[in-house]
Amino acid sequence: MNSSRWMPKIDRNLCTGCGDCIAACPVNALAQVGGKAALVKPEACTYCTACEDICPANAIALPFLICRAGSSDCEDSLPKDEER
Ligand code: SF4
Ligand code: SF4
Repeated sequence: MNSSRWMPKIDRNLCTGCGDCIAACPVNALAQVGGKAALVKPEACTYCTACEDICPANAIALPFLICRAGSSDCEDSLPKDEER
């Protein structure tokens, strides 16, 4: 399964490198890489949305949240219970 489909996506073109998301991440899944935020520990991410909420540049998107419950076209993009 391609789990990257529902990982936080950081747009490096929009990211200013302010570090707010890195400070906000409760599991230290984010870090500065080349002056921009990067998801360095995707396996640690709990999808809490703190990074998306705090980013002043709207550089972070958690695409899985766009999926609506019951929408058959995105069922396989949602994390299964046993994978959380
Ligand atoms: S969604 Fe939460 S746990 Fe995942 S990278 Fe963002 S702040 Fe960290
Ligand atoms: S909060 Fe946004 S602009 Fe700041 S480092 Fe994180 S992704 Fe980049």
